Amino acid sequence: MSALDTAATRAWLLRFADRVIADADDLTELDRLAGDGDFGWNTSAALRRARPALESAGAAVPSALWAALSDSFLAAGGTSGPLFGLWFGRLGAADVPVWTARDLAEGVARATEAVTRLGGASAGDCTMVDAMIPAVGALARSAERPWAEALAAAAVAAAEGAASTGAMVPSRGRASYVGERAREVVDPGALAVAWFFEAGSDS
Ligand code: ADP
Ligand code: MG
Repeated sequence: MSALDTAATRAWLLRFADRVIADADDLTELDRLAGDGDFGWNTSAALRRARPALESAGAAVPSALWAALSDSFLAAGGTSGPLFGLWFGRLGAADVPVWTARDLAEGVARATEAVTRLGGASAGDCTMVDAMIPAVGALARSAERPWAEALAAAAVAAAEGAASTGAMVPSRGRASYVGERAREVVDPGALAVAWFFEAGSDS
């Protein structure tokens, strides 16, 4: 199995970008049902902007790719832009050329802690955090395994976390204004996090 080096990271992040760009309308529809309907647009615009930097052969270490992704989310609109910008920035900060499952576990834990600190959301508030926290747990349990197995475990956990938001009444962000009516609507931010881990375990 190949190492999680710059090339593998690039392939992962480009697969994530392509998935979000292709299925942006599904994310937007979820945000329309429980928010203001701009999530798919905000997210796919950030990833379209990030694509040239992700493809550039100049990135010598994985952290350069994560920084490019972070920068384009920080410049994106909506509540999700700065939160994803912070998450990807912290996630990819390790200054090593080849990542282990432990590096991934530590990065995602550090990043998720930063997002909960900035956004103030906890588990059960029906946000992206409901997919991030289960992924943190799955990665911590897989820290000694090959990175692809750890990512596959994170993808399952994040997808279950995203699905669980369909039974929650949002109490953070714009969806909280919709209240009970948002029940049965999966949170689009959590779904995007699940797609992110799925893109990594597709390799
Ligand atoms: P806006 O609500 O400003 O239109 P977006 O549509 O870009 O923002 O993003 C909505 C997503 O942001 C939600 O699906 C949810 O996952 C996430 N979100 C909203 N508020 C918070 C928060 N306080 N903490 C974490 N995530 C949040
Ligand atoms: Mg929105």
